[in-house]
Amino acid sequence: MTDKIRKSEEEWRRELTPEQYRITRQKGTERAFTGEYHDSKQPGTYKCVCCGAPLFDSDAKFESGTGWPSFTKPVADENVQTESDTSLFMRRTEVLCARCDAHLGHVFDDGPGPTHKRFCINSASLKREDR
Ligand SMILES: [Zn+2]
Repeated sequence: MTDKIRKSEEEWRRELTPEQYRITRQKGTERAFTGEYHDSKQPGTYKCVCCGAPLFDSDAKFESGTGWPSFTKPVADENVQTESDTSLFMRRTEVLCARCDAHLGHVFDDGPGPTHKRFCINSASLKREDR
């Protein structure tokens, strides 16, 4: 996935709901337990709500109790990118869509094995394709 998608803020604002725009383009966070997917076990592929890139699979989804959809790994490492985030006086690792730079959430090192990763992702940044 090498072709970057770049759109103006105006275009994103037009294509997304206000909540999707706030989270993906302005690095927002949805309130815990309010998102569409946090407790869903429906099988499918979770795609980027902005550009449709496949990001996470329901096979890697687990119940973290945090109120956000949580995954042990992305569909492919190259489909997401990470960046150091020191906002809010915390040292965290931000997770972004590699294709369109949408803010997805954060990744932590306290997930279940074997990856021990916990990708903590906003429902509003995802669109699930059921199978
Ligand atoms: Zn994207």
